[in-house]
Amino acid sequence: MKGIPRRIILLFLPAAFFLFVVSGGCGARPEPLLVLVYHRVDEGPFNPVPSVTPRDFARQVACLHRAGYQSITTADLYAYLRRNRPLPPRAVLFTFDDGRESVYTHARPILAARGYTATVFMITGRLGRPGYLTADQLRQLATMGWEIGAHTVPHPHLPELTTSAALREITASRVVLERLLDRPVEIFAYPYGDLDPRIAALVHRAGFKMAFGTRLGTPEGRSDLYALERLTIPRRGGLLLLRFATAAPFGPARRNLARLAKTAGFVRIQAAYSRRLGRPRRPHFPWLLPLLFL
Ligand SMILES: [Zn+2]
Repeated sequence: MKGIPRRIILLFLPAAFFLFVVSGGCGARPEPLLVLVYHRVDEGPFNPVPSVTPRDFARQVACLHRAGYQSITTADLYAYLRRNRPLPPRAVLFTFDDGRESVYTHARPILAARGYTATVFMITGRLGRPGYLTADQLRQLATMGWEIGAHTVPHPHLPELTTSAALREITASRVVLERLLDRPVEIFAYPYGDLDPRIAALVHRAGFKMAFGTRLGTPEGRSDLYALERLTIPRRGGLLLLRFATAAPFGPARRNLARLAKTAGFVRIQAAYSRRLGRPRRPHFPWLLPLLFL
């Protein structure tokens, strides 16, 4: 008899926890700032380049919109990080790496319907190639208020290059984009999220205001401006991830746990995984992502 209540409690607690977190929907206890990274928004497979389906993307955007999130620009983020200028109470920065055409065909209308803009980090060597944005599409995005950032010319693993070659790569795509858009290009994203102190210093030296990696997390006052954190949205479970991010109930405890998970767990797991593959590569552990929001 004594065991029954305990069993009930053991069954009930996880269910209650799950319902408590998920039923809150977007925005019950929101993460004030989300910096999201997507690549493709199409029906293709997740590997080797991460993608979400247009339907899932629309649901994720609707979820954030329902929760009252406003999209911000990287300029807003810079002012927040460096000058403490406040952000909207619930702010989201959408970023798209590589400049895939699906960003224009699928993501743009979905975001525009909610009044959102985003940032594209363009591989300039692929401008106009099949599956990638054309110069005209990129210009149109810029006139719609989207920001365009540099992502090198051929998408190399920068830490593997010599200093002069890496610097050439970092600056060449910027020159192309500035000529094309007739405006300064001040932001950079590392191909594959690969960076080390030497490469980050080169990006700084090249005159970029800030640069994004793919280390999991959310930028905060102490973040390195040349290694800004983002959240990769996985192919499966993206909506659930955003629900955790926007509705997780533990506030400061969650932030501390997230920090711990990032430093102690994820970094080591990712490093071990990269070593096993024998070359630097961005690993994907979508099933571990919710840990960040426990
Ligand atoms: Zn990339």
